[in-house]
Amino acid sequence: MIVMKFGGTSVEDSDAIHRLIDIVKSEIPRKPIVFVSACAGVTNQLLKIAGLSAEGNKGEANDLISVIRARHEKLVDELIESELPKNYLKGKISVYAHELRNFSQAISVLGEVTGRSRDAVASYGERLSSMIIAQAMEEDSMKAAFVDAREFMITNDVYTNAVPLFDKVEAKAREMLLPMVRDAYVPVTQGFIGSNEAGITTTIGRGGSDYSAAIIGALLDAEEIQIWTDVDGVLTADPSIMPDARRIKKMSFNEASELAYFGARVLHPMTILPAVDKNIPVYVRNSRNPSYHGTLIKKAEENEECIAKSVAYKERITLLNLVSSRMFLATGFLEAVFAVFNRYSTIAHAVATSEVSISVAIDDTTKLEAMKKEFEEFAEVSASSGKAIICVVGENIRHSPGIVGRIFSSLDGIRINMISQGASEINIGFVVDEKDIEPAVRALHKELFDNPSSRSPSADIFD
Ligand code: ADP
Ligand code: ASP
Ligand code: MG
Repeated sequence: MIVMKFGGTSVEDSDAIHRLIDIVKSEIPRKPIVFVSACAGVTNQLLKIAGLSAEGNKGEANDLISVIRARHEKLVDELIESELPKNYLKGKISVYAHELRNFSQAISVLGEVTGRSRDAVASYGERLSSMIIAQAMEEDSMKAAFVDAREFMITNDVYTNAVPLFDKVEAKAREMLLPMVRDAYVPVTQGFIGSNEAGITTTIGRGGSDYSAAIIGALLDAEEIQIWTDVDGVLTADPSIMPDARRIKKMSFNEASELAYFGARVLHPMTILPAVDKNIPVYVRNSRNPSYHGTLIKKAEENEECIAKSVAYKERITLLNLVSSRMFLATGFLEAVFAVFNRYSTIAHAVATSEVSISVAIDDTTKLEAMKKEFEEFAEVSASSGKAIICVVGENIRHSPGIVGRIFSSLDGIRINMISQGASEINIGFVVDEKDIEPAVRALHKELFDNPSSRSPSADIFD
């Protein structure tokens, strides 16, 4: 059995859905389970509907609901010819539009969007796309079975960022999905959405469809997890900054995890974790270019000569600088600092320390004011926003001392605010001003992947 996940652009219109069907058909002998995202842009529109409703702007919210409705009706018209399913789907779309208007009305009365209502509204994107895709497969004489992911993706109650409860998910998924696969049906279900134990809709975080697919792939012991998207695989840098970024043919689980964590949107940061435990290969492939093999993510290989694999960046970072104002022992100071991070559940994305000072890069500033008050009891604190973390990733960085020199000399003229090397030693990260993201990524890419004099990367790893 394999798990195949198709992202927003891979289901954005009827042409994309035809391509998806062809891709899935070609994998029928391997017994696929299919996860889909909402059509590109729909999740953003749904969240906008929630926001507009809270501001009392019901007119615009209703207009957007109509736009979403019309887009899905067009999909049905283009993909489904048989009368009965066509009417059924149109009826469902109309019911969903009605429900969305009710949510919009309720939110506007309350004047605020709770996490719970945000998730309820956001869930319609995946529910709409998956129901149409499952029917389009049937129309194309496939044996497809629509499955509501909320029946198996059981999560905790943390709306908008819910955590799947693996034991429960495994039991439900085995019970629901495996018999379908055994009977030669292709289950078609939604990424991103789930429900808590009381049956209330939750979502597992933006971009979470990759994670949904990886969880089920791991829990059901899939032989492979495929992430179908709109680029040829994981690239040496974000193509919006480096249009000639190169495709990475293979990378390790650790490399992919670090890259995703440090901002490479192509994979949700949690995607790789479930796959690692069971050593399941993950492929990232282009649904517009299915004959291409994409990127294979698997266990690290011995003797690989390539040093750096990719450059990623994370925007909207705030850098906190803390200098101990009391005669703390160094360990006491660090302990006190991290106790505050822990109490406020704030993640430190990069850290650099000396005995009496520490710099910490964070992206969640919602609790910053309260945290600062606590820090001020034992340290001088300053915070600067508008920063970015840039990160070079590669398994062999740890064995290549010269790489650090190459990285920083290529950044001549760019102000570096802080440097940190992850404990895994497969990444080197540093903080720059946001305005320097582009020049820094370009300079690094040139040095690491384009410079003919700099031991150019091996052909079996890059295109
Ligand atoms: P999907 O909707 O299929 O989940 P996403 O938009 O979430 O797709 O992710 C794919 C996008 O990630 C690409 O279109 C690309 O612009 C962006 N991206 C950023 N960094 C990288 C990278 N290193 N490799 C590949 N794509 C990247
Ligand atoms: N549709 C969701 C989002 O846009 C989940 C996903 O596409 O992965 O965040
Ligand atoms: Mg994505």
